[in-house]
Amino acid sequence: MSALKISKRQLQDCVKDARIRLPQHNSEYKHFSYVFQARRLLGWGRNKEAAPFPGFGYTRTLHAENEAWRRSRHALTPQPWLILNIRLGTSGALRMSMPCDCCQAFLEAMGCRLVYYSTDHGFREMKI
Ligand SMILES: [Zn+2]
Repeated sequence: MSALKISKRQLQDCVKDARIRLPQHNSEYKHFSYVFQARRLLGWGRNKEAAPFPGFGYTRTLHAENEAWRRSRHALTPQPWLILNIRLGTSGALRMSMPCDCCQAFLEAMGCRLVYYSTDHGFREMKI
């Protein structure tokens, strides 16, 4: 089986994790990212009011993908990895979290090859 996959259980655990962290998320958009490689969760991040990641067209704020990568980079190997994006409404419902153009360029440059992202109705995947 491909290493570029996560189990349904892992996905559900991340949704649970994001919902637990939701009350502490004080940005308008509540976006969480989880980095996986070889079926292991390496780190997570969320968007926040902080200096934008240098390059890739970012102009303001740190995106969840940036922080998740920063927290996982020490453990990442040169092999492809994947990211799971989850955005929640204030009540905890799933919302669209497809990576923005800047993050798509960022993720590709960092070796990410697959994105799972939430929508209002579940999850979709996107190859990078
Ligand atoms: Zn982004």
